[in-house]
Amino acid sequence: MSLIPEKATQDRFGTYEEVARNSLAMLFDQDLCIGCRACQVACKRWNEREPLYEQAGRDPVAELGREIAKGKEGYAGAEIVSFTNPQNLEAHTWLTMKFDEFGDGETLQWLFTRVSCMHCVEAPCVYGCPTTALWKYPEGPVVVRTDLCIGCRNCIETCPFDVPRMNFELGVVEKCTLCADRISNKPIAVGSFKGDTYNPQFEIKNIFPYSSHNLLEPACVETCPTDALKWGPRNEIVRMAREKAQRIGGFLYGLEEAGGTNVIYVLKRPPEELGLPKVYKERPSTRTERLVSQFNALGLAGVLMLGVVGAVRWLGERKNRILKNNGKGK
Ligand code: SF4
Ligand code: SF4
Ligand code: SF4
Repeated sequence: MSLIPEKATQDRFGTYEEVARNSLAMLFDQDLCIGCRACQVACKRWNEREPLYEQAGRDPVAELGREIAKGKEGYAGAEIVSFTNPQNLEAHTWLTMKFDEFGDGETLQWLFTRVSCMHCVEAPCVYGCPTTALWKYPEGPVVVRTDLCIGCRNCIETCPFDVPRMNFELGVVEKCTLCADRISNKPIAVGSFKGDTYNPQFEIKNIFPYSSHNLLEPACVETCPTDALKWGPRNEIVRMAREKAQRIGGFLYGLEEAGGTNVIYVLKRPPEELGLPKVYKERPSTRTERLVSQFNALGLAGVLMLGVVGAVRWLGERKNRILKNNGKGK
């Protein structure tokens, strides 16, 4: 039994394999990234996100500089010294580049890691949402419709990559859209409940073949000066990622995580060393199915155990009753 409505993936999106193969995807090649953060700026500008200091009335860049200076002078305080800025995703920051320093002296190596939504092929956040505020475009993006979001945080709980963030001012969740408004014509998505059952219904306009005139690249991809970000049909992106990883002895992230995503990383170190979340490799629906059947099996085992205990007890009581009655007969 699947808790994920097959109809949503099969009737409208094609089969899972078709979507995984035909949708569009982004490649992040860590080997080519110089940590310039142009992608972060492009994301803020295209999506009209506020810089952090405007929200808090402070300048986090200056604060960060002070932290680093303290660190360099042998400062013994507990402050985190890092060039990552902002330190993590938040409602107005849909992309941040993580800065990590490895080695010592001669072998010093800086690595920059993209932190943003992975746009899962079968996105758990979409199926966690009770109001159909989240949906998956057949072209690849997973988008929050903030007019439908009720801020219940289910998507925050179900996302294995720790991506969606609450916008406390508006009471809605926000995250990277994979620039859906640049790369495709806007689909209309609606959902409804049948009794207590969540029943998503998707009305998609103008899907494949994606030949529309407004097919731009995502803003971050277009801005990247070193081609560390690439954009194309997912099967081609996967081929490029595999080839590059093999050539540099690198590591892939997003190919198998959560059953596959529409953002694929080629990394120079294992994902866990770069602080990326360790994510299950199954399709979310397969995983849910397995967990449900394990749960049911546990329940069945429990019922059987109770039955056995009850039967043993009943037999014992029966034996006592017979012995008692026999005693009376004496
Ligand atoms: S990474 Fe998280 S927020 Fe992004 S599509 Fe996957 S489950 Fe949803
Ligand atoms: S795809 Fe668009 S929304 Fe997502 S990080 Fe890049 S610029 Fe930002
Ligand atoms: S714009 Fe390109 S090179 Fe610069 S930080 Fe982003 S991914 Fe790296």
